[in-house]
Amino acid sequence: MTITRRTILASTALAATPIVGPALAQTAPSATAPAQGAGSRQAPGFYRYKVGDIEVTAINDGFAQRPLEGFVRNAELPQVQQAMQEAFLPTNALPIAFNTLVLNNGGRLTVIDTGNGDMGAPTSGRWMTNFRAAGFDPAQVNTVVISHFHGDHINGLRLKDGTAVFQNAEVMVPAAEWAFWMDDARMNQAPEGMKGAFQGVRRVFGPIANDVKRYEMDKEVVPGLNAVAAPGHTPGHTVYMLSSGNGKLMIMSDTTNHPALFVRNPDWSAVFDMDADQARATRRRLLDMAASERAQVAFYHAPFPGTGHVAKEGNGFRFVPVQWSPAV
Ligand SMILES: [Zn+2]
Repeated sequence: MTITRRTILASTALAATPIVGPALAQTAPSATAPAQGAGSRQAPGFYRYKVGDIEVTAINDGFAQRPLEGFVRNAELPQVQQAMQEAFLPTNALPIAFNTLVLNNGGRLTVIDTGNGDMGAPTSGRWMTNFRAAGFDPAQVNTVVISHFHGDHINGLRLKDGTAVFQNAEVMVPAAEWAFWMDDARMNQAPEGMKGAFQGVRRVFGPIANDVKRYEMDKEVVPGLNAVAAPGHTPGHTVYMLSSGNGKLMIMSDTTNHPALFVRNPDWSAVFDMDADQARATRRRLLDMAASERAQVAFYHAPFPGTGHVAKEGNGFRFVPVQWSPAV
């Protein structure tokens, strides 16, 4: 832009406006003035789309910041920082989003994973507000399906004070995940740093242990939703094929953490992957399938709403988010 006397005057006038504005508003409050702080809030974090006849709603549970250092086990920090830079992301910390899904299949509501509840980072814990803003009520949920037992997926089932969040829902979990985490001998042998995860699983599922339904792989969990084994991130980590009519969605759970790192570099291992080699093989297989089938995917930890497509690029892949649509 060429700077002229006129543009300087114009920008000075613009810069002055906000100073005058609030001062006037203070002396003469207007009925149409936005509530204080309204300018710093977003629209509620839900996004709907259709998969055949099934209405899918992505519900955001905020995010958590993770220091970048040490996040990728098998890459040097400068390499990881470069990947972040190429994606125009910060190079000191990774913002990790949490996106659960609600399926509305002819009035039958299924929630897939539940977010952090009131146990997560202060920037998370937005799930219930967004869920209600989307017009849902936890008492209406028929089924809660859990992909794996990490806290950011299960803690939304039960508040810190013990209250069950989905009073009328059947809770369905992967049988292999249950077998691993509910094994007391394994908990006792686990390194000190992992004991908390075992205890967290017991906090959530202990009171309903006899009612939790354990599902097997390659079976229909609820109508239209098929469980597919995706071990590595955790032993029983599960992804899903959702199908209805011609519609198909690959629900990828934690097959990758942030796509800018792990879709782009599928051989990188996130610090949360319990079996790095197995997770890598699973990731390659599923990303390859999504790319060759041009299937729509949903990632739990992609930027909201976390759905799009995967294309092959170089030795890795590229995540292409869907275009926001005003119509469902
Ligand atoms: Zn997760």
